[in-house]
Amino acid sequence: MPKTRVLVVEDEPTVADVVVRYLKRDGHDVEVAADGVAALRAFDSFRPDLIVLDLMLPELDGVDVCRRIRSESSVPIIMLTARTGEADRLTGFDFGADDYVTKPFSPRELAARVEAILRRTGRSAEGSSVLRHGDLRIDRGARTVTSRDEELRLTAREFDLLLVLASHPRQVFTREQLIALVWDPATAPEENTVTVHMRRLRSKIESDPSRPRYLKTVWGVGYKFEP
Ligand code: CA
Repeated sequence: MPKTRVLVVEDEPTVADVVVRYLKRDGHDVEVAADGVAALRAFDSFRPDLIVLDLMLPELDGVDVCRRIRSESSVPIIMLTARTGEADRLTGFDFGADDYVTKPFSPRELAARVEAILRRTGRSAEGSSVLRHGDLRIDRGARTVTSRDEELRLTAREFDLLLVLASHPRQVFTREQLIALVWDPATAPEENTVTVHMRRLRSKIESDPSRPRYLKTVWGVGYKFEP
């Protein structure tokens, strides 16, 4: 798989370094530009799949860089800024940024936003087919689930059940809804079937099935996936 290319435009080396470290950890090819002019040059030569763009920059500021890039490309842009006002936030979106992160920010949070945008725009090297939650990696295309890089043996039904829940984190599903989504209604499965499958699924993906980390029971309602 080709790596996704992320251009980091940031004039403060300490901030740039930490952002680069996190993005490389996530498997991206990263290039840094330390001012607005260098950013436009890198945009032409590096052809990034996503840009993390600081607002306050020497030479051209982030707003100008963003406008110029937007005039010729829809590449996702995440703005970094020390400005915190709500009006500035709206202004930020006006000139074409896809997301907006206020300094000081957590690099983990920024890395998560980068992944979310890459997934949303289909630019991720893994495409939109992989869900990651904690130790779990759920590949919709290959229909595999791994936990700490170990592949788990799920039945087709267990996989579908996990996929429905994990694709909608924190959303509570009743047993009836899960039957409608996962089972063939013509076979008229009983609600107890869901309970049985959930128990088996937990025994496979949870390190302590009696105290599930991911597959939570919502008493009197149904189940939800806790990311
Ligand atoms: Ca700056």
